[in-house]
Amino acid sequence: MDGQVTALEVTDDRLTGVRLGSGQLIPRQVVVAMPRFVARADVLITLALEPTERELAGHVIGSSLPADPGGATPVPGVWVAGNVSDPLGGVINAAASGLSTAAALTADLIAEDTRQAGDAYRHERQLATHEAGECPAARTSTRQTAPRRR
Ligand SMILES: Cc1cc2nc3c(=O)[nH]c(=O)nc-3n(C[C@H](O)[C@H](O)[C@H](O)COP(=O)(O)OP(=O)(O)OC[C@H]3O[C@@H](n4cnc5c(N)ncnc54)[C@H](O)[C@@H]3O)c2cc1C
Repeated sequence: MDGQVTALEVTDDRLTGVRLGSGQLIPRQVVVAMPRFVARADVLITLALEPTERELAGHVIGSSLPADPGGATPVPGVWVAGNVSDPLGGVINAAASGLSTAAALTADLIAEDTRQAGDAYRHERQLATHEAGECPAARTSTRQTAPRRR
């Protein structure tokens, strides 16, 4: 059936048909309304995240936020879990998604801490070398080209 349904026709408290925008009446005894699964993502949209349309069997069934299996979104530092990225999931999927996202987030924080600790260590070594008046590159070069004499 093509066209937009604009009204239901009811006779003696029973559905008898649907009225299209064109005015045409299509006799029907049963109507099934498909729900739309729309991510409640207003607050995330302010972080530049864009919901994308979700399709099932060629039909748009709603929208969700794009995220990888660990919940990472295209915006660095923003993770999501549950129906906001998987609108067809149930409670058990949402719980599992929360677990995966928490693990991925923790791993990311650990990686960031490790990177910062490495940077700080290298920076301190550079400072110490500088304060001692040594140049590591020159010291290496001297060792290679001028062996110590006895
Ligand atoms: C009618 C119905 C029946 C269902 N029946 C089943 C069932 O039988 N079995 C099953 O497994 N699943 C069922 N589900 C699906 C299930 O409810 C969801 O999969 C699950 O609740 C998703 O969990 P979630 O944490 O991702 O989202 P939600 O449970 O929706 O939690 C999101 C929370 O975030 C809050 N929130 C949103 N935006 C903001 C904001 N800006 N600020 C603060 N808070 C915010 C919301 O108020 C909500 O409390 C049903 C769903 C519906 C609608």
